Amino acid sequence: MSNLKALWDYQGAEIELENYEKALRNTETRKKLVQQQQIFQNNQHKLKQLEQESVLLQNKLSEAAGQVEILKKQMKSKKEEIAEIADYDLEDLFLEDVREMIKECENIKSAVELNKRKVVEVMHRLEKSEGEIKETLVKMSNAKKLFDQLKEAHTKELEAGKDDLEKLRANVAKAAKGVDAALMEKYKQIKQHRPNPMAKLVGDRCEGCKMQLPSGVLQSLKVEGNVVECENCGRILYVVEE
Ligand SMILES: [Zn+2]
Repeated sequence: MSNLKALWDYQGAEIELENYEKALRNTETRKKLVQQQQIFQNNQHKLKQLEQESVLLQNKLSEAAGQVEILKKQMKSKKEEIAEIADYDLEDLFLEDVREMIKECENIKSAVELNKRKVVEVMHRLEKSEGEIKETLVKMSNAKKLFDQLKEAHTKELEAGKDDLEKLRANVAKAAKGVDAALMEKYKQIKQHRPNPMAKLVGDRCEGCKMQLPSGVLQSLKVEGNVVECENCGRILYVVEE
């Protein structure tokens, strides 16, 4: 058997192994597994955002509550002032002072109303946020449950393919033994940038890139023992032996 035929057989064994490995990696179970992983991660990300939002809302809530406390104190001191006036005689009372007091009371009252509305609004948003957090956690837990089930199923798939995989690996190792070391080196170099480093000659074309080969190359291919690469794609050309 010529060296090129041995290399061609080696490539065949390698392709078979690679296809099998690829099929094991791309089962429906594995695809679903990746999908659940994605769902979990998306919800995890959402949860972080919701938690950050929740902290901001809590801060707003305590800010508004603190504001209400301050206003209550102001209202209290205003009431004390009013209680003093209650004892005044009519002559001692200035209309401007009374008007000013009424204005101040009204201001405090509307500020309290505003903060109350703020508190209600923030509470409402917090409730909504908490609902979403719960929902997200449920989604995460469902995804995790499915992921674990699929992971187990996929492990079984891999386990079931182990023997075949071993056989195919053994085939590759066995085929490698028949190939000259320098030729194998060349093959591996080409493989770094071409999926299948060896291509058949079909008519006067390279099967790898479908390009027509010049007559000089075709001539060179006829010489026994020559290793010829396609000028276009760089693959080692193989003339099928009759
Ligand atoms: Zn080519």
